[in-house]
Amino acid sequence: MSKLLKFLKPYRVAILTASGLIFIQIILELLLPTLMGSIIDIGVAGGDTAYIFKTGGLMMLIASIVILLAIISIYLSSRISMAFARDIRGEIFKKVENFSLNEFDKIGTSSLITRTTNDITQLQQVVMMSLRIMARAPMITIGSIIMAVYKNARLSLIIIFVLPVIMLTVLIVTKKGVPLFRSIQIKLDKLNQILRENLMGVRVVRAFNRIDYEKERFREANEDITNTTIKVNKMMATMMPAITLALNFTIIAVIWYGSINIDRGAMQVGDLMAFIQYVIQSMFYIAMLSMIFIMISRASASATRINEVLDMESDIKDPENPDITEIKDGTIQFKNVTFSYSGAEEPALKNISFTAKPGEVTAIIGGTGSGKSTLINLIPRFYDVDSGSILIDGIDIRKMKQKALRDAIGLVPQGSVLFTGTIADNIKYGKDFATGEDIGHAIEIAQAEGFVLSMKKGFDSIIAQGGTNVSGGQKQRLSIARALVRKPKIYLFDDSFSALDFKTDAKLRSALKDEVAESTLIIVSQRVSTVIDADQIIVLDRGAICGIGVHRELLKTCNVYREIVSSQLSEEEIA
Ligand code: ADP
Ligand code: MG
Repeated sequence: MSKLLKFLKPYRVAILTASGLIFIQIILELLLPTLMGSIIDIGVAGGDTAYIFKTGGLMMLIASIVILLAIISIYLSSRISMAFARDIRGEIFKKVENFSLNEFDKIGTSSLITRTTNDITQLQQVVMMSLRIMARAPMITIGSIIMAVYKNARLSLIIIFVLPVIMLTVLIVTKKGVPLFRSIQIKLDKLNQILRENLMGVRVVRAFNRIDYEKERFREANEDITNTTIKVNKMMATMMPAITLALNFTIIAVIWYGSINIDRGAMQVGDLMAFIQYVIQSMFYIAMLSMIFIMISRASASATRINEVLDMESDIKDPENPDITEIKDGTIQFKNVTFSYSGAEEPALKNISFTAKPGEVTAIIGGTGSGKSTLINLIPRFYDVDSGSILIDGIDIRKMKQKALRDAIGLVPQGSVLFTGTIADNIKYGKDFATGEDIGHAIEIAQAEGFVLSMKKGFDSIIAQGGTNVSGGQKQRLSIARALVRKPKIYLFDDSFSALDFKTDAKLRSALKDEVAESTLIIVSQRVSTVIDADQIIVLDRGAICGIGVHRELLKTCNVYREIVSSQLSEEEIA
């Protein structure tokens, strides 16, 4: 919690102003009971109507000033807390944008979403309440006690007995509440996760008739969070009655001893009224303070989760003195690369060595789960290798800036991702300043011209969220166009032709050949027809290379390759 306070620093002037206003407000508020007491003792008891009006008017004036000050300070504290939340949200987003995929795997997407939204809202509320009440409560409590002692010192001893009781209650309840609050946030993550999965996988849920199952899953998570919240709220709810009870007993005691004093003529009625007012005020603010304690305990659970994100250091960092600032050639060299996902028992890639040269097509083939995508993802440094090294232009990719590295790469990931916006916007994602001509050309090479032009608005047609209004193959072609428009030195196609029919696949690859003649191409595929005329085919099997060569050589030397080929091509085609 305290670590996040640095985000309040830019607003210290506003905070000081708000606190100053609150301070004046409190001083004025503390005068009111005394004035009321004097109206009773002097005005009413003495039958002095003029005095009643004069003092009453003064009270009214003070009350209006107090209201005005309250409005201004509430306005300020709202603005401060909103700005505070905005800054932390921005900071988290900035941090997350620099995460490597490893960190995403660690925290989980749905938790990241809860942390950036709900957790920050918790903090924002506590900051707002603190600004409004934190400063007030102790000051009013102390001020009221001082005024009470000033009115009648002996009577004030009662407060000293009651205060510890209240504080103890607050302490016990908050202590029990914190772990529960933490678990509420975790349950919220879970709820989010189920919701996200359902929304994204809506087609699968419908197709497999899992609606009831999913309803049940959601209901369970929903119940779970509800029960915990009710439990914690019940606990918190005992606090208020306890404090009210203590307050009322205190007032009974005050009236009891006060009346004895008045009987003896040692105290006036108005003084007693003022005294009761001060006691109520101090107790009321102690109750408010206890509310804040609850909120702080809830927010501190959230603060820990936010700090976890802010403190997480990405494994993948830019070097201080990069060896090169621009990739010129694009030769990719894997040297004995071994890599495992964190938490996995077996490495996903073992001892991978090969070289992919510019102007050549390097194809990677292998069964599902053989590590093809993993290999591709190592090249833009989504993950860092465990041992061995990946060199581009002879320089280790860890010795260049990520921006320089990624600028040279046109990646078409396995699952095509499109963003909400027009087709042109999506292609431009590859290159900010792409001209209409560039975009048209890229779309033509990617064999997407036909369907793009047949859409009503052509390049300006809107892609819906998640690209749901284009087919899988169309999506793939648009993400290929997005990579092409960059004209990079290195192209990585991760199973990017899988949803294309054979004819389009062949046409696309032949158009690509002329277009990217100078570049290094790595094409991942499950289809033999896609890789058959590559300059070099790498066969992956369970994370290891079991053969490198051209089609004819591999047929002779590599069993795994022969099996893949014979499962897809007829005897004549193989011969
Ligand atoms: P391919 O692309 O050849 O189908 P992948 O490279 O995607 O295979 O996966 C290789 C292996 O690594 C698989 O066994 C898979 O379970 C594992 N794997 C892939 N991604 C992750 C990840 N983010 N975390 C842990 N394991 C992963
Ligand atoms: Mg894959």
